Amino acid sequence: HAQDHRVPVVLISGDGIGPEVADAATSVLSATFKGFEWIEAEAGAALMERGVASGVPKATLDEIERTGLVLKGPLATPIGHGGKSANVTLRKLYELYGNVRPIKPMPGLGGPFADRDINFVVVRENVEDLYAGIEHMQTPDVAQCLKLITRKGSEKIARLAFALARAEHRTSLCAVTKANIMKLTEGLFKDVVETTAREFPELDLDHMLVDNCAQQMVMRPEQFEVIVTTNMNGDILSDLGAGLIGGLGLTPSANVGDDVAIFEAVHGSAPDIAGRNVANPTALIRSGIMMLRHIGEGGAAQRLERALEDVYRAGTALTPDVAYDGIGVSTDAFRDAVLEALE
Ligand code: NAD
Repeated sequence: HAQDHRVPVVLISGDGIGPEVADAATSVLSATFKGFEWIEAEAGAALMERGVASGVPKATLDEIERTGLVLKGPLATPIGHGGKSANVTLRKLYELYGNVRPIKPMPGLGGPFADRDINFVVVRENVEDLYAGIEHMQTPDVAQCLKLITRKGSEKIARLAFALARAEHRTSLCAVTKANIMKLTEGLFKDVVETTAREFPELDLDHMLVDNCAQQMVMRPEQFEVIVTTNMNGDILSDLGAGLIGGLGLTPSANVGDDVAIFEAVHGSAPDIAGRNVANPTALIRSGIMMLRHIGEGGAAQRLERALEDVYRAGTALTPDVAYDGIGVSTDAFRDAVLEALE
């Protein structure tokens, strides 16, 4: 029975507003699915200041390796700190090659795209491309950055995108590249997606150049179901998508590897509002809903999604960033409204 199914999850509350949004998210997730066992673990700025250069101590890594599942708040990177950010450490260490970002508005919110039927997912390759950080100065006046695309890396992200499309009963995918200019690197990615498509005959595959895709996403966002793309294209398009639905505060994500999946909000630690009980936990709650689906608890995911949508539709218990009256309620009051909607 679902309720006997114990699921240990590493909870990294993180920095700034992290503990506030993590408290709200774990409350509503535990109320929806009783099986979660939260294992609190540390990472982020405070650890870097205590001398853990990577920002992630060994005890946390051990728990992540044991459970393979993480719900994570934002981690701040102290400016001027020499080491890598804790986020980059985790992504590299566990080869989290796939970044998955659903783009779907909350009901009832205003904005230029309020009445549009936007519901797509950006699946972004997350370890290769120009972001591998392989740069050098050819001469004091010429800088070079290496763009690396591999067949294996492209196959992994293509499979992840097609499998996700199949699991969500979508009908089409759109590969987005700049293969007209970067014929070898972006071209290889395009070829691999097209080859992988043969394993998923029920799904239609289109291709779009990234500049056109940016325009289409604004003009006619309804046309997209699943976008699969290289790292830098995906970085920009996924934030454009977040903008379409009301900003980073509402946008969840999953970072997927072979052995570990990390679910997190897209926003940062919001130091300007930290500790004031006004942060919006929606993005982290939605990340938790993605985690419920990932562990096969689709029914629970749907219950929580509906409760969240009910609270947005009612519109009387929203945090200040999205409240109609510009005043809004506290993080705790919003959490309680979601708990009530769940009952
Ligand atoms: P930010 O996302 O923290 O904040 C940008 C603006 O959005 C701020 O005005 C903030 O108040 C608001 N905001 C963000 N999340 C909100 C929420 N849930 N509810 C209400 N308002 C919200 O971006 P930043 O200021 O550029 O970054 C701050 C720190 O976060 C930096 O140290 C950065 O490195 C880190 N960061 C971490 C992650 C991550 O862990 N995944 C992502 C982005 C930034």
